[in-house]
Amino acid sequence: MRARKHAHDSTKQTSNPTRPIRRITFRTMNRFKTTAVSAPTKMPRLITRIAVAVTAIVAFGLASGSDSTAIAQTPSVEILNHSAVSKLPDGIEFSANVVGDVEEVTARFSIIGRRATQYDYLEFGEPAIYSTAAPANGNLFYRTDTLARYLPPGVTMEYRIEVLDSSGTLHESEPTQMVLTDSRFEWDTVSDGGVTVYFHGPVTTRATSLLNASLETIDNMAPVLGIEPEGAPITVTMYNNIAEMTDATADRSGAISRELITEGQAFSPENTVLVQGGSNRATGTMSHELTHVLLSRAVSGARSSVPVWLNEGLAEYGNIDPGVSYDTYLEWGIDTNRILPLTSLGTFPGDPDLVIVSYGLGRSVARFMVEDFGPGKMAALLAEFNSSRRFDESMIKVYGVDRRGMDELWREFVGALPLSDEVVIIAPTSAPMPTFIPYTLDNLGAAPTSTPGPQAKATPEPTDAPEVEASDAPEHEDESGGGGCFAAPGAPIEGGMAFLIVAVGSAAAIRTVRGKITHL
Ligand SMILES: [Zn+2]
Repeated sequence: MRARKHAHDSTKQTSNPTRPIRRITFRTMNRFKTTAVSAPTKMPRLITRIAVAVTAIVAFGLASGSDSTAIAQTPSVEILNHSAVSKLPDGIEFSANVVGDVEEVTARFSIIGRRATQYDYLEFGEPAIYSTAAPANGNLFYRTDTLARYLPPGVTMEYRIEVLDSSGTLHESEPTQMVLTDSRFEWDTVSDGGVTVYFHGPVTTRATSLLNASLETIDNMAPVLGIEPEGAPITVTMYNNIAEMTDATADRSGAISRELITEGQAFSPENTVLVQGGSNRATGTMSHELTHVLLSRAVSGARSSVPVWLNEGLAEYGNIDPGVSYDTYLEWGIDTNRILPLTSLGTFPGDPDLVIVSYGLGRSVARFMVEDFGPGKMAALLAEFNSSRRFDESMIKVYGVDRRGMDELWREFVGALPLSDEVVIIAPTSAPMPTFIPYTLDNLGAAPTSTPGPQAKATPEPTDAPEVEASDAPEHEDESGGGGCFAAPGAPIEGGMAFLIVAVGSAAAIRTVRGKITHL
């Protein structure tokens, strides 16, 4: 899934996490049923409130007969009960029973790891005074089945119910946290070391192997990345086949995505990973995706994303069961001089073959940077980058060379042709892009600078193809992401090639890439 510019769910998001900003615009978009006395303009707000109150008192007075004290006292608002039920991938169902002077009932929620708070209004009938015998029954189905509102299963939500009374006083429930699981299945879990694997069906052994892969990855990569092994809890949702997985991803709306193999997706700020456990490389995928999550912790303070070649390169370096495809593609890329300069790989190229070459390149360069410059260098680089330093500045400080310099060293190391000036001219068009483009899904409330967790994967490329002209292919300046990885192409090379090429039909894109290299 290629990115749309939808960094924020703007209709229902506010930077103020505590109170709904009461503007007239909310009236037009909320589901709250305005009454006849609720005038369509902002001006008569006070009048409206008085009118509602009068109406309520009259109603109450009628109901309670001659008891004049009851008329004078408005029952205080009480939230009798409330609930939220995950209906992912379709949505979240909120409900609440409320008594007292009820003007408006709101569900306010946030996803742990994201900054933004969302809210929406529960439908409950008319604003009025509700009694315990007949409380206001508020309901809201908050849909998540659009790309902009997509939530990966396994995220943790915190929500509370807010009730506004006619005097403008806000009454809140205590915040409640819950994991939003995929509602299509009954889940079991195995967990250890801060990682919980959700699985369904008789696949405990497989789930346990994913858990062990996660723990092994943390052991391996925490020191490399310079992070503590302990961190926020991580949830892994393991699916048993591609179809299950596809329906849980944001890609599911794309017709072509049925043909794609999404083995895993990482949602770093949310500490959530989806893995297709039916794959014979599932543990490799698990470790790759988990490394994205760990890497994002190392650079959570950075002002831009780690370039994709390093993000994917480290994820593959952390892969405990890597396939051979990337190496083979890399050799092909080296032999045919198709290796793109690192400076042009802030995002991956559009051509699927070059994407796989770039994964291989990323892993090879990451291994080179981790293993051939002395211990602690990668952690030091990430620490510098995390302290708001630019990437090249961080590189120079720690490695003594910038990306281009590292590129040259690596090419010498593996025996690739040196960078040519012709190729390098591409660099200025890519290098100044200050942020390497935060990817989409994480942008839903995440710090735009936080992390590169899910990254351009091979799988999004085909989705991209029908919409992007060939001439755009190498640019990829659209908001990239979708968050996921073509982590470990387990298929034979030929199969991988066929799958990607069939999916994309990319001859034009390849030509374009060549054209760029040749002519710029
Ligand atoms: Zn990845």
